[in-house]
Amino acid sequence: MTTGGGTGRVALVTGAAGALGSAMSERLLVDGLRVALADVDPTRTAEVARRLDPNGTRTLGVVMDVTDWASVEAAVAAVVAWAGAVDVLVNNAGICEAAVPTWEMPLEAWHRTLDIDLTGVFHGCRAVLPGMIARGWGRIVNISSIAGKEGKHNPVAYVAAKAGVIGLTKAVAFETAAHGVLVNAITPGSIWTQNWERMPAEQRVHYEQRHPVGRFGRAEEVAAMVSWLSGDECSFSTGAVFDISGGRAGS
Ligand code: NAD
Repeated sequence: MTTGGGTGRVALVTGAAGALGSAMSERLLVDGLRVALADVDPTRTAEVARRLDPNGTRTLGVVMDVTDWASVEAAVAAVVAWAGAVDVLVNNAGICEAAVPTWEMPLEAWHRTLDIDLTGVFHGCRAVLPGMIARGWGRIVNISSIAGKEGKHNPVAYVAAKAGVIGLTKAVAFETAAHGVLVNAITPGSIWTQNWERMPAEQRVHYEQRHPVGRFGRAEEVAAMVSWLSGDECSFSTGAVFDISGGRAGS
């Protein structure tokens, strides 16, 4: 089934081999877009591509390290060669590691997190914006986190990077609004993925209860929001931050 709204358009999703990235990619395919699945992990990217698009006609797997400008530039060039354009960019690749207090945060973990979660978003925007501006249409969806608004006990690098994504989104949106390119951020609360399964049960319950709705979010709920922000129906929102957080509002 396709809803058809995005037929003919091309999306690039970073971190597409992961839990949320694969759900977003699946939804954009249902919407009728072709989707470039970009991730640093080629094996899992190929698995996701096979699952979502067994005939290989509507997806392209691209190896892309969002921290490396040359890699991002090459990946975007490969997508343009494949499909002619990048109309939609979902900056989703991200990590959250080193759950320790600031005074114990390893310096390399700080830099790695900022490189992936914030600089990676800048790289993605920088690479696709000239094409979007030239065509007079584009949508960028940056995946932040509710932690970027409300803080989080640990780790400081993740919170700082996700808050940075919100600021970056607002700045880029100002620059591109007059060109038909809308740039928005979403701030998920805790969304159920395999990563959470590794956590002790009592800690999981704690996270669940932090959401007024009393549960984790689902990847397809996040994907639905990305879908709307990626299409024509999103026409009067840019530089905006959309919570998808079960009632956690941040500030
Ligand atoms: P995930 O670990 O399942 O997926 C992340 C993907 O990013 C992985 O496939 C990984 O290979 C890829 N990646 C890591 N480093 C990369 C790099 N340098 N270049 C390209 N790709 C790279 O995580 P997820 O839960 O699907 O999270 C996706 C996004 O949503 C992240 O930005 C995360 O911070 C954000 N988020 C998730 C939750 C949640 O509860 N799951 C909540 C708030 C925000």
